[in-house]
Amino acid sequence: MLALQGDVREHLAALAESDVLARPVRRPEELAEVEALVIPGGESTAISNLAVSFGLLDPIRKRIADGMSVYGSCAGMIMLAAKVLDGRPDQESFQGIDMTVRRNAFGRQVDSFEGDVTIDGIAGGDFHAVFIRAPWVEEVGDDVRVLGRVSGGRDAGRIVAVRQGNLLATAFHPELTGDLRVHRYFVEMVRQAA
Ligand code: GLN
Repeated sequence: MLALQGDVREHLAALAESDVLARPVRRPEELAEVEALVIPGGESTAISNLAVSFGLLDPIRKRIADGMSVYGSCAGMIMLAAKVLDGRPDQESFQGIDMTVRRNAFGRQVDSFEGDVTIDGIAGGDFHAVFIRAPWVEEVGDDVRVLGRVSGGRDAGRIVAVRQGNLLATAFHPELTGDLRVHRYFVEMVRQAA
């Protein structure tokens, strides 16, 4: 669990319920000990700054290039994007997913909202998704699978869940709803990669 900033505790709780041993990662030595990484929701500009000052930016990029499984929610999705729109000019990302995301895309008047998302590959019905100043995905490369879109309302059809190889990203926060299906899906991805 990347524990520089954001809703780390909620993810750790969801991972503990998903039958994995999860621990915080703040230093390169801790990164070297984990098999997979979760990047929380929070503030991508802060996560970016801290990743640079904690010496984690390049080591995480390298682990991703070497095939480590990573799941990012919200700010974590932004951190996994090859290209970020409406970011701060000096904002860095870990790269990884060949996609363009727009920060705070869902508009100013609605900072947060809830909506239903059907996720391809996750059984059990629509996901009740919580979006908080969330990004959406504007463009994906050929190797990226779109797993979920907003199903109704003004922003229907917007891409909010994607996967590329061992990398998974959602614009919403499954760690806040008690629905463990996304975390379990990720744990299964990690097992299959191993
Ligand atoms: N708007 C935040 C960012 O740019 C993301 C919000 C979130 O993670 N809930 O990083």
